[in-house]
Amino acid sequence: MFDFKDKVVVITGGTRGIGLEIARVFLENKAKVIIFGSKEETVNKTLAILKDEGFEAEGFYPNLNDYLDIESVIKKIIEKHGHIDVLINNAGISANKKIEETSSLDFEKIMDLNVNAIFNMTKAVVSYMKERKSGVILNTSSMVSIYGQPSGVGYPASKFAVNGLTKSLARELAPFNIRVNAVAPGIINTDMVANLPKEMIEPLIKTIPLGRIGQPRDVANAFLFLASDMASYITGEILQVDGATRS
Ligand code: NAD
Repeated sequence: MFDFKDKVVVITGGTRGIGLEIARVFLENKAKVIIFGSKEETVNKTLAILKDEGFEAEGFYPNLNDYLDIESVIKKIIEKHGHIDVLINNAGISANKKIEETSSLDFEKIMDLNVNAIFNMTKAVVSYMKERKSGVILNTSSMVSIYGQPSGVGYPASKFAVNGLTKSLARELAPFNIRVNAVAPGIINTDMVANLPKEMIEPLIKTIPLGRIGQPRDVANAFLFLASDMASYITGEILQVDGATRS
């Protein structure tokens, strides 16, 4: 059991999949959890699910590509809670088309959410963390950030960029006692994977030495550890949570 009592944790892409499970593990460990989603309706639905499970969380739905929108939501959170201790940049979309079928708009959409949104969120939160000389920023990368993937090039390209943001910001923000790490999941049982074609998934499972697809909880636990004081000397790391998948 970790103790996140009085810690404020903001999670983008917190309405389902890995992000929702991250919300659950922090709630189980007494954190104040604020989820961000893309729509009011999905945010409210998720808050209701969590309520049924006995958890109280809060939610917002800023446009993650609109810095001013994010800034005003972060201000509201600071006015209410006074601080943000942990920022988890988890929202992301994937791709699987071959390059000839990928439009430049498809490519930009991925970069907008998977990379630019992390920049915007981090920029909006970091000054508050700096003031308190304390904070943790965690990003969701992917195993494709290590190996690439044979289609949907925007997705691995975006996750390589996530690693670059993580490693660089870790060094920039270390003097302010702000740690920055990423978790790089392998194949995890969420909607994102359910939407991929079978021909793509089945050969991938064969490459997992632990012999199974990961569960959202496997990934959420890694976030919890990296956000905790047990990881107080870990920064700039990309933690692979992929059952030793190496391709
Ligand atoms: P998911 O599709 O189940 O959830 C994605 C989340 O992102 C949702 O909460 C959704 O609301 C949010 N989101 C999507 N578009 C958005 C937008 N335009 N603005 C704001 N929020 C938006 O996916 P998941 O599998 O839970 O993925 C979460 C993260 O994990 C992503 O960054 C993804 O790249 C990464 N990841 C997933 C896997 C996997 O196998 N599932 C593997 C490696 C990395």
